[in-house]
Amino acid sequence: MTEWTEGRKRSFIVSVLRSGTRRWPPKFLTLNEAKTEKKINVKTGRLAQHYLCAGCDNDFPAKDINVDHIIPVVGPEGFVNWDTYIERMYCDKENFQILCTNCHTEKSMGERQSRKQKHVAPVKKKKA
Ligand SMILES: [Zn+2]
Repeated sequence: MTEWTEGRKRSFIVSVLRSGTRRWPPKFLTLNEAKTEKKINVKTGRLAQHYLCAGCDNDFPAKDINVDHIIPVVGPEGFVNWDTYIERMYCDKENFQILCTNCHTEKSMGERQSRKQKHVAPVKKKKA
């Protein structure tokens, strides 16, 4: 077996952990609570269960929504350690919300941005 770099090993572990969330029950509780109604998916013309987006208050079929971690798995401070990572990824139902693709993209971009800013130029707090 060829030697694995730290980065490769880390992304392997991340993908294993992520795939486990597909079976993480609190996630489905949140999903269930966000159910609105079965109606015609405008894109496919088929009857589909819709879910309420916590960001824009519209409802979308399952294909167009994401289960989002309100407190991101990796916060503005970046990767802390595996304990924190796992704790945040496998969180309680209260930390999950349903976001449509647009709202989710916007939120992730904001999070990436704040991570980047923190990394590149830490903003010093002004003394009061
Ligand atoms: Zn939305």
